Amino acid sequence: MESSLLIRAREILKILKDTFSIPSFSEVSGDPFKVLIRTIISQSTAEVNTRRAFERLLRKVQPFTPARLAETEDRDIEEALRVAGLYKNKTAVIKRVSSIILEEFNGELDFIYSLPLNEAREKLLRLPGVGPKTADILLLFCAKRPVLPIDTHVNRVSKRLGLVPMGERRYDAIRSRLEGLYEPRDYFAVHMLFIALGRTFCKALKPLCSKCPLMKLCPSAGEHSGRDLQQSRSHYLSHQALFAPHEPLKKSFQY
Ligand code: SF4
Repeated sequence: MESSLLIRAREILKILKDTFSIPSFSEVSGDPFKVLIRTIISQSTAEVNTRRAFERLLRKVQPFTPARLAETEDRDIEEALRVAGLYKNKTAVIKRVSSIILEEFNGELDFIYSLPLNEAREKLLRLPGVGPKTADILLLFCAKRPVLPIDTHVNRVSKRLGLVPMGERRYDAIRSRLEGLYEPRDYFAVHMLFIALGRTFCKALKPLCSKCPLMKLCPSAGEHSGRDLQQSRSHYLSHQALFAPHEPLKKSFQY
């Protein structure tokens, strides 16, 4: 890994830590089964609707266990999830995954704490509704395993910041690249802070480059039309000598 890239990556993290506050592990972790179901609900859904749907489901299903969810009527789960969209599909996935966890794992996801990391990941990936991002969120948030989950915000901002090649689409390649740039103790902070950056400044359609705290470190600043963004790009170009050689400027965004 180029040392200039490592230096820039660390500088980016430092600025983000100074800009945003991040929740503690205890605020986002907890029962892995709850985290799993919440993550399934969150797929293609805004955070506010995910929260509402999950809270409704929690109120409806007590105790919130794989056994109880597996026997809950579809229409009751659908009713709770309606606000999150794709509620019929999500209900079917939630029922299936609950039954599998009940039958194959005795109703527990304890293996995420004890199995070697890759083995635990493989086992999670065999569950319906669990892709690499969901598996990594469970491993990091609940078991504090050293993985850096890549969601849509982390993917977008890490490419715009030139930390990951713009054309890279393979989940594991993006994850490995970012994991190589940061210390394992910072994976949680990087995940949370890149999401905060993506929601606040580095928005998908209209990034607010001229207000972004990373403007001077970002090769994509000012790539959009508009005078303020062009100005942002000049700020980066005048600052880049500190970090040369740097990644080439990118022309387009990918998600
Ligand atoms: S300067 Fe613009 S493109 Fe770069 S991280 Fe900030 S908002 Fe995103």
